[in-house]
Amino acid sequence: MDTATLSADTSLPVSQLRGVGPKIEQKLARLGIHTVQDVLFHLPYRYQDRTRIHPMGSLRPGQEAVIQGEILLAQVHRGRRRSLLVRIADGSGQLTLRLFHFSRQQQQGFVRGKTIRCFGEVRSGPGGLEMTHPRYHIAPAEQMPPLDDHLTPLYPSTDGLQQALWLRLSEQALALLARRPELAPDWLPTPWLAEHNLPPLHQALKLLHRPGPEQNPLSLLDGSHPAQQRLALEELLAHRLSLRRFRQQARRQPAWPVAPPGALADRLRQQLPFELTTAQQRVIEEIRRDLARDIPMLRLVQGDVGSGKTVVAALAALHVVEAGGQVALMTPTELLAEQHHTTLQRWLQPLGVRLGVLTGRLKGSPRRQALAALAEGELDIAVGTHALFQQQVAFARLTLVIIDEQHRFGVHQRLALRQKGAHRGRLPHQLVMTATPIPRTLAMTAYADLDVSVIDRLPAGRQPVTTVVLPERRRDEVVERVRQAALAGRQVYWVCPLIEESELLDAQAAENTAVALAQALPELRVDLVHGRMKSAEKEAVMARFLAGEIDLLVATTVIEVGVDVPRASLMIIENAERLGLSQLHQLRGRVGRGREQSTCVLLYRAGLSTTSRQRLAIMRETNDGFKIAQRDLELRGPGELLGTRQTGLLNLKVADLGRDQHLLSLAEELAELLFARYPDNIAPLIRRWLPQGLRYGEV
Ligand code: ADP
Ligand code: MG
Repeated sequence: MDTATLSADTSLPVSQLRGVGPKIEQKLARLGIHTVQDVLFHLPYRYQDRTRIHPMGSLRPGQEAVIQGEILLAQVHRGRRRSLLVRIADGSGQLTLRLFHFSRQQQQGFVRGKTIRCFGEVRSGPGGLEMTHPRYHIAPAEQMPPLDDHLTPLYPSTDGLQQALWLRLSEQALALLARRPELAPDWLPTPWLAEHNLPPLHQALKLLHRPGPEQNPLSLLDGSHPAQQRLALEELLAHRLSLRRFRQQARRQPAWPVAPPGALADRLRQQLPFELTTAQQRVIEEIRRDLARDIPMLRLVQGDVGSGKTVVAALAALHVVEAGGQVALMTPTELLAEQHHTTLQRWLQPLGVRLGVLTGRLKGSPRRQALAALAEGELDIAVGTHALFQQQVAFARLTLVIIDEQHRFGVHQRLALRQKGAHRGRLPHQLVMTATPIPRTLAMTAYADLDVSVIDRLPAGRQPVTTVVLPERRRDEVVERVRQAALAGRQVYWVCPLIEESELLDAQAAENTAVALAQALPELRVDLVHGRMKSAEKEAVMARFLAGEIDLLVATTVIEVGVDVPRASLMIIENAERLGLSQLHQLRGRVGRGREQSTCVLLYRAGLSTTSRQRLAIMRETNDGFKIAQRDLELRGPGELLGTRQTGLLNLKVADLGRDQHLLSLAEELAELLFARYPDNIAPLIRRWLPQGLRYGEV
């Protein structure tokens, strides 16, 4: 029988378990655990291996292990902190136990020649490997207790909830599940699982909570065990289904079809100083087809930095304006909003299009005027930050929402905007643009609600940026290079990236650098832009840089997204080893936008790790954003790539997108199968895995 057809009863409250009174119930609730099913899905995040004795000679720092040997010597050491040091050996090597707290009786127990067994974490100390406060047991070898026959699970926990509590809870939950399978039904089709050699749900849960002696500890420790893979797959599937369901819901609502002759767009194209690339033309065609339909467009345009997404957005906007609709263009920073506003003014004002800008800094009567103009339909296009979508903002006939640099926004914001834009029962079309080139399989999970277009070619004539990696101690040479370049008429960025998680400290670091560089380079016009400056100041500095009135612009990473000054052709990035590859790629994308050969210098501090060295080498080897993203994913995991840190997008409990990439295509296959054959399983799967706020269909 297909277990999926069993009637479900997943709502049994956790308070039904012994030992869960109101206090613990509250603490569990804070972790999102309300039901017995939730307890079952609160899985160990790792395991301790107390099933075998490790030879001391094989130990590595950081390892947790059981060891057994003979006591050689016990001695109180009076250093900075008094401690008891016990030297032990097992024939393969030696190790020191270190106890900061100990009783006289304990001390006397460490008798030379006796056998001791310990469990703890190995560290390197002044005299070789150590264990600090291990658990230990002293007894004749033949009287030692038996070793564990299974791995010990460790549960994620907070709030003073002890591991012992998790063991008690999971024990009871598993016992209940054995009697009442409907507490956690298997929503994956049994034949499909069998075909893919993945265990059924209950077997997987039991195994992960209580791995038996027959399980391969290595595969459990590294997450490749079929039981873990099965749950990771289920989790990825749930995220994917949630986004897909959201897409279906959105597309059940109508949108205004937009299908003008295209006269305005044609006029812009004629007036542009360049020809569109074939990639741009193809993407615009895809957008036009979407816009012409009476269901909302949900399209993501991916294009590497400098691939020319802005003009694609402008052409899409012109179609809507020609058809009498309004467009909102949203950017993650004010700087970028101002820049887009300027660019679009230059392109579109001659065509009679009315543009406005709305950011957080617009206050008082100018703000009221802008709001009124939007509400009365006197503006065709509004460019702004998320201020565009605040409560008080009303549009007369919002027809298209464009979100630039989407990775800077959370999936929540993106989805909430769709609803916000609805008017007279119709949803606006949505165009999302991102320069974060993420591998296709990952895109299909993270953006499962969107159709994807890719601008896969850079405009002709672009020369790849030459990247040089140099140690900080060669800074003087670099400064000299900046001087030469600027005197030869080139414009230069000097980027001081995030040092602290503090905009203030960052801004100060950039200020100091600017002062030092201005002193070292008196013949250059040096200026500064950072996140703590007033928007108008930032804008003024950028305008002067664009006009060629500044030679050297010192900046924090505020210039990371979108900034477009084609004449800048040299960039220095300090502390480059601290940045993710994708972020470096974004920053580097600020140069190499014109016809000139550009250079990017990555400065690093001494003492690089091997990984950091590899990462910087990748930057030197390639300008291809997709390759860089793939490597970044392998080296650092997907958090950075998707901007999940800020957003909680794909906040995964079991799956690890770096490790489990191969599951993404299986999740895709499975999603199709569920939509086609088991639609009733979808909602409970999503409820099981996604916390309330992340169930996209319910935003
Ligand atoms: P991004 O995709 O990073 O947002 P932009 O839209 O800022 O890129 O475009 C980068 C630069 O390339 C801009 O100066 C833009 O005017 C220019 N550009 C866009 N399309 C073309 C093209 N087909 N040929 C030449 N230059 C182009
Ligand atoms: Mg852009």
